[in-house]
Amino acid sequence: MSPLVVAHRGASGYLPESTLEAMALAHGQGADAVECDVVLTKDGHVLVNHGLWLDGVSDVARKFPGRARADGHFYALDFALDEILTLEVTDRYRVEDGREVPVFPDRFPLWQSDFRFHTLQSQLELIRGLERSTGRSMGVFVELKTPWWHEREGVDLVRPTLDALASAGYRTRDDQCWVLSFDPRALERIRCGTGLAAGVDLPLTQLIAEVGSDETYEQGPDGSWRRYDHAWMHELGEMPRIRAYADAIGPDYHDLVRVESHVVASNGMAAAAHDAGLLVAPWALRADQLPPWALSMNDVLEVLIGQVGVDSVTTDFPDIARAFVDRLG
Ligand code: CA
Repeated sequence: MSPLVVAHRGASGYLPESTLEAMALAHGQGADAVECDVVLTKDGHVLVNHGLWLDGVSDVARKFPGRARADGHFYALDFALDEILTLEVTDRYRVEDGREVPVFPDRFPLWQSDFRFHTLQSQLELIRGLERSTGRSMGVFVELKTPWWHEREGVDLVRPTLDALASAGYRTRDDQCWVLSFDPRALERIRCGTGLAAGVDLPLTQLIAEVGSDETYEQGPDGSWRRYDHAWMHELGEMPRIRAYADAIGPDYHDLVRVESHVVASNGMAAAAHDAGLLVAPWALRADQLPPWALSMNDVLEVLIGQVGVDSVTTDFPDIARAFVDRLG
């Protein structure tokens, strides 16, 4: 079967990431699914946003000065949805010497047009609406963004996210909806259904962070929070352990290959996952951020699809991946 083309935060290579416009363009470009990340607002809404922070993609610092935490960031969890919806959204930027510098200089220009944040519910309504008006389906990959952090803050991200999905009709393995997380305990909880509505059975993807990453924390027996090490998930022999609660692995695509003397080949991770009954769903291909061994995104697709044998490609540029996959026939 052809690998799925998954639009990473929508067609984020062309429009500000995670916006409804980027999701609609992904559908227009023939994506099989859109990927998005979700976090909670102060009043319990499930917001689509790549991270916990509203800064870096919006004018929150200008509109709500003084609302940052001690680390300088403006957390979605500290704002009501009504406040968040007043913010203007732009392509991702960083601040250098007081100046806003686009992270991807050749993408959609900063602060042009009029983009806003939106809830997961709005996004699912958009997808359902497009499916109806075009007669063409598009799935959704929903990443729970640091559920452990929400738990530490005293709120539950998992339940309202799954409730929003169920309300929009995403309940079973036939509904083209995958739930993703770096946090294995959140996935194990969903698999067990602990504290969740009954009758929901969605496929789960264990995202795999690099060894030594501080992406995920866990609570020890004494109640303290400590870094969770994803190192074991890189061990080929451990794939059955992931299969016990998940249906796919989601590694950084760089972690699926080995480069020796300028020759790129599969490093065996994908085959080990397949042998264990897991699908392989790597992220995130970018035409404007290529590895040293590739001259174009097609070179990366050739390796991942032709040699590694991935089951989906998550990319900021779904049109390029769509064209590549369609040429395979
Ligand atoms: Ca994500």
